Parts: sequence; structure tokens; C-alpha cells
Amino acid sequence: MLAKDGQPLMPCHPARARELLRKGRAVVVRQVPFVIRLKDRTRSDSVVEGVQLRIDPGSKGSGIALTDEKREACGPKTATVRRGLLSAELRHRGDRISHAMRQRAGYRRRRRSANLRYRTRRSDNRAHRADWHPPSLRHRVDTITSIASRFCRYAPVTEIHIETTTFDTHSMSVGRQLYGSEYQQGALAGMGTRGYLRTRWSRTCAYCGAVNVPLNIEHVRPRSHGGSARIANLVLACAPCNQAKGSSTSDTSPATWCER
Ligand SMILES: [Zn+2]
Repeated sequence: MLAKDGQPLMPCHPARARELLRKGRAVVVRQVPFVIRLKDRTRSDSVVEGVQLRIDPGSKGSGIALTDEKREACGPKTATVRRGLLSAELRHRGDRISHAMRQRAGYRRRRRSANLRYRTRRSDNRAHRADWHPPSLRHRVDTITSIASRFCRYAPVTEIHIETTTFDTHSMSVGRQLYGSEYQQGALAGMGTRGYLRTRWSRTCAYCGAVNVPLNIEHVRPRSHGGSARIANLVLACAPCNQAKGSSTSDTSPATWCER
């Protein structure tokens, strides 16, 4: 709702808007979002508390809402009561944009390669600006910014809240911010094959569970049968178990192999 002087007033209920229009006290300014302007009241005549604009960006669609907040007495304490005044959902057309871009690339490729081979080579002027983003993503940012600025024009927005949901699980598990190639170093970085297997099998034979004996690295599926040296194919085995198994293959898990 706008005041007589075009300044934003608090959003009102649709029933109140209909009443104001019926009595001729207001005129329609815009259909989407529906905005009316009062004819008989300026902003200085009104009490305007301000509203919050809340944005939840998503890849397919983004939610936008206007809320107000009131401090209400709740026994000895005061509680914040938040009311939704208006909500809208933006459906993004990122998939249609990327489809159109691919189609355009196809048309241009055809123009370059079809029966037009006398054409000179296309100049090598292809570069992206440093602040370049894919058109489908650019569109998402632009439409949210546009609709948010429109809401700010028609409602007395005092705060903007944006939900950001980027969870850096790797950083969280390490407990600090990671940079560059640190992301390529997982929990096993720097640990050798033998060290990993010792931890994995708690320094025991995978077949008989023997402890405090010399352990060998054993291929579950033997090399002679095409077994790989990947860590998933390796276990620790004591010398007798390793000898007994030899080059036979085992369908069962290493822990039960000795019992057969
Ligand atoms: Zn053993």
C-alpha cells in the first residue's frame, strides 16, 4: 500500500484493500504485486513500523515473503511474534535458458561448418569477464534482485533476510576453513597402505584374528586371478593364513574364510 505522496505504508489485508477501493479512498497502482495508493493520507499522517523482506533462494524456485514483528508480553518475559503479510514464489526458467543457449550454439556451429566453407576463420576473441556467471544463474540473481527492489518500493522494508544454505561438510569435519588443494586431502591423506590397513583391522589377522604376530598385506582376490591392488581388495593376514589361502579365491568375507 502506498500513501498519497507515494511513500510505502504497511501492507493491508485484501478485504481492507477491497473496502478502500469500494469507498473510493484508494486507486490501483499495480496488479503484480497488487498495490493500491491511498488518496487521502500521507505517510506523515500514518504510523509505519516497517516490515522484513525474507528470501529463500532455490535452484528451481525462490520463496519471498514480507513479515512484521511485534514484541508481546508473555508472562514475565516478552516474546517476538512474527506474522506473514505476503508471500510469493518465483519459478526460475534456468533450464529453458540453458536449452536456448545450447540451441543457439548449435545454429552457430551449423553456420560455421555447413556449406559455407569459404568463410574466413572466426576471430579468436572468446573470453569471459571476471564477473561472468552462466546466463541461467545470472537470470536467477537478476529476477530475485528485481522482485526484491519492487517489494522495497511498495512496502516499508527495514530489513532483508536471505537464507544461505551452503554447508561445507569437509571444513566442518576438520573444524576450520580449508583452502585450495586442502579439499583434496581427506581423512586418509598422508597415511600409507600399511598404516591404513593396520588401523582398519586393528593390527589383527583378518582371517583368524591373531594378534601380536607379523602381518602381511593380503589380496582377497589374488593377483593371479586379476585381483587389483586397490585398498578395498587388501586385508592384513598372519603368515599361516596367507600361506593357507595361497592363490585360491574366496566368495565369503575374509573373517569367515578360515572356518571353511
Ligand atoms: Zn590368521
